[in-house]
Amino acid sequence: MKNIKIKNRFTAELPADPVLTNEVRQVKNTLFSYVNPVKPSNPKLIHASKEVAELVGISKDEIQSEEFLNAFSGKEILPETQPYAMCYAGHQFGNWAGQLGDGRAINLTEVENNGQFYTLQLKGAGKTPYSRTADGLAVLRSSIREYLCAEAMHYLGVPTTRSLSLALSGDQVLRDVLYNGNPAYENGAIVCRVAPSFIRFGSYEMLTSRNELKNLKQFVEFTIQHYFPDTKGEPKEQYLQFFQKVADTTREMILHWQRVGFVHGVMNTDNMSIHGITIDYGPYGWLENYDPNWTPNTTDSQNRRYRFGNQPQVAQWNLFQLANALYPLINEAAPLEKILDSFMTEFESDYKIMFLSKLGIFTSSEADDKIIKGLEEILQLSETDMTIFFRNLSQIKKEDSVEQVFEKIENAFYIPDEIKEKILEAWQKWFTVYLKRLSTESLSDEERSEKMNKINPKYVLRNYMAQLAIDAADKEDYTLVDELFQLLKNPYDEQPKSEKWFAKRPDWARTKVGCSMLSCSS
Ligand code: AMP
Ligand code: MG
Repeated sequence: MKNIKIKNRFTAELPADPVLTNEVRQVKNTLFSYVNPVKPSNPKLIHASKEVAELVGISKDEIQSEEFLNAFSGKEILPETQPYAMCYAGHQFGNWAGQLGDGRAINLTEVENNGQFYTLQLKGAGKTPYSRTADGLAVLRSSIREYLCAEAMHYLGVPTTRSLSLALSGDQVLRDVLYNGNPAYENGAIVCRVAPSFIRFGSYEMLTSRNELKNLKQFVEFTIQHYFPDTKGEPKEQYLQFFQKVADTTREMILHWQRVGFVHGVMNTDNMSIHGITIDYGPYGWLENYDPNWTPNTTDSQNRRYRFGNQPQVAQWNLFQLANALYPLINEAAPLEKILDSFMTEFESDYKIMFLSKLGIFTSSEADDKIIKGLEEILQLSETDMTIFFRNLSQIKKEDSVEQVFEKIENAFYIPDEIKEKILEAWQKWFTVYLKRLSTESLSDEERSEKMNKINPKYVLRNYMAQLAIDAADKEDYTLVDELFQLLKNPYDEQPKSEKWFAKRPDWARTKVGCSMLSCSS
């Protein structure tokens, strides 16, 4: 790969773990450990993104090369690079978890292209000092889910890590999917993902929890110098600006999640990027019927901490942990608290604007709070498909009768006709108010529709779609992986040939493992 420009700022500038073994241990006074990916026995490329390849300086043709497969399956190490696993800690499900670290992620290298820096990271490439009791590997099903979803999110306009490649390792991996004592072998796989960096909130929490304040200062300064160069003023000022920026980008990311109906599922502080990008696609899911209490993660089914409607609060809680981690450098609580408080007030006002834009309302009026609240309630009276509902709203004309409107959104309902009758009255009331509100907007029906269709996607990676791609891939048929990858590159466009993916979740997927229920086993 002749144009790839190797850079290694992280390893060159930060203190390394002097021990060079993969032995599981507490790794102190460092931010990373050098590790070698495990050699896959028979790697095979399933898919690669030519857009992401180009982003990092790899040409389309090079994707087909053996060199590409070897590098991104872990078989060979790129020249002039020294792969490493990062040491970080974190809060999991609200509890302090101590050292976690890259248990199965290995950073290959940083590269520079067109003035931008990217870290290339393998997921599922073997054990590291941070693997704890696990094997360092990943299975095909979770790798397909991560590979497809990250790219789908990117094209939806949601900040995210990117996916460069998806490869089979050729090795078998033992997993107990339901944690019920029935482990089985599955195909092992490796995803290469790409991000400006993989630094997490937990990276700072680790240093502060161990009172490694010299490293904390060095690491924060490293972060600011390379990733937040616009910060200005005294060091303390800069640390605060850094925190403010993380809060801002995190807020924007969550707003996008709520817009498209994405539920991350494991918003632990070790899964929060300082770049405000979506990271670590595990037991995530897409809202099908609009239910703010829904979480796909069966491990969280009791408390539902990471349910859809709680994501903004959790993000704020996570930022609070980051603030605590930065505190020893700032020694003043008030400015940090101010940023945390304004996170929620700003989120609420942004959320209102976003939600109204999904309804095609682009001005503000006193009645809007009631419209939003009313809709949120009514959407939950019976199962209503979020994506279909909002997308179909763009077909409404100001002159439509309530009956005409109803016909246009009807296919978003999961409910049988008898029940539909019962909730009809509630919908009629709401739509009467909504139509009246629409008539006060100055945009024409066409203009409004066009704007709405850039906000409300037509195609998202519904949980069952990823599962169908997985089922086919288990039979060595990867056509659906590619079909979904291509489809989701244009999620806001009408794609008549793919209309079948603009449909409610089929009945069989309602309770199927992998569709509505996912565990952390991956
Ligand atoms: P997650 O919440 O899935 O992002 O993972 C939490 C922690 O568990 C991270 O430190 C991961 O690196 C680690 N982990 C998850 N799965 C494995 C695995 N199969 N082998 C080693 N470490 C793992
Ligand atoms: Mg993680």
